[in-house]
Amino acid sequence: MTATGAPVHSTIARFRSANGQLVVGGVELVRLAAQVGSTPFFAYERAAITERIDLLHGLLGPLIGLSYAIKANPMPAVVQYVAGRVEHLDVASSGELKVALDAGMPATRVSFAGPGKKSAELRSAVAAGITVEVESSLEAERLVAIGAELGIRPRVAVRVNPDFAVRGSGMRMGGGPQQFGMDAEIVPAFLSDLAAYDIEFVGLHVFSGSQNLHSGILAEAQDRTVDLVLRLADAAPGPLRQVNLGGGFGIPYHDRDEPLDVEAVCEHLRNLAQERLAPALPEAALCLELGRFLVGEAGVYVTEIIDRKVSRGRTYLVVDGGLHHQLAATGNLGAAIRRNYPLVIGNRMSGDDTDRMTASVVGCLCTPIDVLGDNVEVPASTDIGDLVVIFQAGAYGKTASPADFLGHPAAFEVLVGPDQRKVQNHG
Ligand SMILES: *Cc1c(COP(=O)(O)O)cnc(C)c1O
Repeated sequence: MTATGAPVHSTIARFRSANGQLVVGGVELVRLAAQVGSTPFFAYERAAITERIDLLHGLLGPLIGLSYAIKANPMPAVVQYVAGRVEHLDVASSGELKVALDAGMPATRVSFAGPGKKSAELRSAVAAGITVEVESSLEAERLVAIGAELGIRPRVAVRVNPDFAVRGSGMRMGGGPQQFGMDAEIVPAFLSDLAAYDIEFVGLHVFSGSQNLHSGILAEAQDRTVDLVLRLADAAPGPLRQVNLGGGFGIPYHDRDEPLDVEAVCEHLRNLAQERLAPALPEAALCLELGRFLVGEAGVYVTEIIDRKVSRGRTYLVVDGGLHHQLAATGNLGAAIRRNYPLVIGNRMSGDDTDRMTASVVGCLCTPIDVLGDNVEVPASTDIGDLVVIFQAGAYGKTASPADFLGHPAAFEVLVGPDQRKVQNHG
């Protein structure tokens, strides 16, 4: 509970504090800021990432691996850290492909999805030996020509736009007309055409949406994904060796968001794998593909207050960061309604700071949409030099924000703390 009795957001509750400061990666915030050297910055906790991955591996069992969609957070140190702990990486550009291979992931465990893959990108993918998830028949033809030219058989999977939609997703990427994948109805004929091509057929990928917090809806989508995969497997030019079952696991961004019941949704998937997929597709490596669920809650965005003023009764705390680093927290990245991300004053965490005030935390950009916290409750003593911490910043933060807008400097990023959450040993 907070000083005023309001429930603490589930993510804030996962961080401890010491000496009145939030502890990030085992280090008190003011010291961490000094270590980074200047604000604003993003800090991602190793231990929180490991905890998430271990939880999922435990719940999913040995039949289902994890694929990390690196668009969620492509910082090379993060990708390298995650790559050592998951079975697969999903990339969506040749820039991300380089990061994935630099991280040491074997090429056979990397796949490339995304509409509009350029010829140079397809060439890199074929030359590297990763799997290309083809999303149109024209793309498949271009890929085959590139394979012939390079004298390398392309590894090909087919990305399927499912014949169902998933309710409750923050972003829908399957069902109905889509720029992603090939419509399920035309996939059987396409799979038979593939038999004539000089390619190595690897498998199928079904991804229907992201940021879903409803375990029941996700379970239903998994049922339908399995139905679809088993139906399409009959038309495939060879045994399926990789099946990507999608993901869509959401994280709670706002106070009223209930965290996903990850136990329920993983147990459902584990049963589906045991009872339906493994018997029918004995050669297939199965994977769940996740981005934000692996890294989103592991990250904070830290920015310093540089002005405090009152305008016609409303208090404004102006910070040195803003939407050019953390667009999503301002509600301008695909959100229908602007709602606050969880936020604290990270150097005023002691419980005896009970005198509270309501203020708006705004970024330094000269635009009215740069609002990081609209009428939030903070300690009344909050002042210039204090550090505002915005949670849920580990995914779709720095690289999903318009860094050049208004010409301010870029944010730093650090990966912090030991692998396991333990008490800092200063000995
Ligand atoms: C963006 C994307 C993801 C990751 O979505 P999250 O919501 O971050 O889990 C996974 N797969 C594909 C194909 C994507 O485009």
